[in-house]
Amino acid sequence: MVYLQPIYKNMNDNYNQDIARSIKTLLSEIGENPEREGLLKTPERVSKSMEFLTNGYEKNPSEILKSAMFSESYSQMVLVKDIELYSLCEHHMLPFFGKAHIAYIPSGHIVGLSKLPRVVDAFARRLQVQERLTNEIRDCIQDTLNPAGVAVVIECKHLCMAMRGVQKQNSVTTTSAFTGAFENEKTRAEFLRLITASLD
Ligand SMILES: [Zn+2]
Repeated sequence: MVYLQPIYKNMNDNYNQDIARSIKTLLSEIGENPEREGLLKTPERVSKSMEFLTNGYEKNPSEILKSAMFSESYSQMVLVKDIELYSLCEHHMLPFFGKAHIAYIPSGHIVGLSKLPRVVDAFARRLQVQERLTNEIRDCIQDTLNPAGVAVVIECKHLCMAMRGVQKQNSVTTTSAFTGAFENEKTRAEFLRLITASLD
């Protein structure tokens, strides 16, 4: 009898060997023994983890939005708030994480709501600085959807600040980026009121 081997059989063994080798070197350089039991598979695990955490490079955020754009005459603010966000700072490759709040005012088109968090992930899963991340999300929505305005606020804790450097564990960095109608003070104030309001 012949068994056909499913092609995904070795999928778990697929990882970037070059990354794994670098991690093994890193372990030695910090004074560890990469051959001890607990660390034997660490280079492989870190390799897979790094590829996941940086898989945004393979994504096209604009295409994500285009895949779910619909003609619609609704022209009031659409707000998705408290979008969980995890990224890596490009200076230390340490995590920064928190929330993104995104609003736009449609001008002929709306977008499937689940696409906004996916756009956040596509930009966040790269080496980033919070300021650029904020602008990239804003520009992608503005350029693809062409709405009357876009607002993006991101609030994050940075482990490079909390675990090292100034060791400020509870500081939160807030960045914001606006276009169009959100340049108007009243509209921006309404957006800021909505993202700080609670439902109860
Ligand atoms: Zn950093």
